[in-house]
Amino acid sequence: MTHQVFGCMSAREIRQGLADRQFSAREIAQSSLERIRALDGATHAFLETTEDLAYEQAARIDAAVADGTLAEMGPLAGLPAAFKDNMNLVGTHTTCSSRMLANYVSPYTATCVERMIAAGALPLGKLNMDEFAFGSSTETSAFGPTHNPWNLACVPGGSSGGSAAAVAAGLVSVSLGSDTGGSIRQPGSFCGLVAVKPTYGVVSRYGVVAFGSSLDQVGPFTRTVEDAAYSLNALAGRDPLDCTSQHITTDFTANLAQGVRGMRIGIVPAFMEAQGLTAEVKAKVEEAAEHLRALGAELIEVDLPNAQAAMSAYYVLGPCEAFSNLARFDSIRYGYCDPGHKDMNGQYDASREIGFGPEARRRIMLGSYLLSAGVYDTYYYPAQQVRTLITQDYARAYEQVDCILAPVAPRTAFEFGAISDPTEMYLSDMFTISINIAGNGGMSMPVGLGADTGLPVGVQLIAPQFKDENMLRVAAALESVYGPAPVATSFVPQSDLSAPANIPDARDAVPGVVLGEEGECRA
Ligand code: GLN
Repeated sequence: MTHQVFGCMSAREIRQGLADRQFSAREIAQSSLERIRALDGATHAFLETTEDLAYEQAARIDAAVADGTLAEMGPLAGLPAAFKDNMNLVGTHTTCSSRMLANYVSPYTATCVERMIAAGALPLGKLNMDEFAFGSSTETSAFGPTHNPWNLACVPGGSSGGSAAAVAAGLVSVSLGSDTGGSIRQPGSFCGLVAVKPTYGVVSRYGVVAFGSSLDQVGPFTRTVEDAAYSLNALAGRDPLDCTSQHITTDFTANLAQGVRGMRIGIVPAFMEAQGLTAEVKAKVEEAAEHLRALGAELIEVDLPNAQAAMSAYYVLGPCEAFSNLARFDSIRYGYCDPGHKDMNGQYDASREIGFGPEARRRIMLGSYLLSAGVYDTYYYPAQQVRTLITQDYARAYEQVDCILAPVAPRTAFEFGAISDPTEMYLSDMFTISINIAGNGGMSMPVGLGADTGLPVGVQLIAPQFKDENMLRVAAALESVYGPAPVATSFVPQSDLSAPANIPDARDAVPGVVLGEEGECRA
């Protein structure tokens, strides 16, 4: 048995190792599952591991190696992978980290997951998240929070916190998350990863439990830009099962080596001067800008005059769409059913009260109010008009630039419980939300550790719609300066041991929810 730690390797390294028969896909599956079992007590990134699916996929890959057809397997062959728990994967629980779906088992597989597996990725499990993707810290998971591998006392960000932590801890090489207002990019920044939210419509949403259907987009977390590009190649494209998905022919790896000479990169002064942006994050964005200038890019100031209204528009449109999407969890069609009620209304009320946590209830009540007669005209309609203005702002900015550089989040990862006011939590996404509103592509690119907190900082690269390759090209240039994203220090494999010592078990400190007979908690 080899001592390689596969979750710390890149797609290229894994494929090469398989081709050279240094190791088999079965060894990758076995050793990765062992590492998850040994270390995930500390991070609690995983809600479930998928042993059977992993070994089935491994058998397929090993057969391809034996036949000499590995090249046909796809670029992600054997790459340890896992998926946010709002993505259906047949036979697994898909809980959205909610009591409401604690017992729900997927009867089918989401297109995004299917495409990753078709491209060779090795499915190892399902990952923790904020309940129904409402949140910025993974603290709203009904199964207990995920811990940031860089500092276990801190949140990993959210809502895709499990997806970020799993890659940052080197448990997997790639994970998928979803982003409605920042949920890929913000945890990507908090955990120091390449984290891509593609342009709306690049990736099919079929089989991903909807939060805000006009805002949601799936994308990868990786440690290298090339792995993100391979993943996008696998994920992107028209899916007849999602009418908002687009026909995409881009090879996202094509221009990674081109450098940024001659590229025009936008800086938004209002973002850089925003209240709440910490000095260490601001300094990192400025440093990244200087590196890009030194590499031959031209920096140009651009204005997004309506972007400051994005947060307000989002907290109207998001809850309205969530309210509508979550109506199906009614204890009859889907979801937890509280037993013993005489009438349907009693069952409905009790099931939703027990099934949904406080943040989910807050969003549902807000959406229900905002869409009610009389109120609709005052909030929903203007929010849609603001959406058009913000979309036009970006379109105008991209007449001048090829990509925008901005902060991802105002600060680095914070400690558990540090933010208890929901509106303060919402500000975590002050730099990411306008991109979902406008539908552009955005990504977080790690640029080292903050000078004050010593925690990872990401910078945000924002691309014109359906020009996601522009931000990947800039990201590759930054990677040439900062290097690929490292595995969090205490999870770096030590010599031939896959389990670093002295990592406490998060589950001792944070008890999961204990459910009644209706739901078995998997925390
Ligand atoms: N933090 C934002 C929210 O709570 C964004 C979440 C997301 O992108 N899923 O709505």
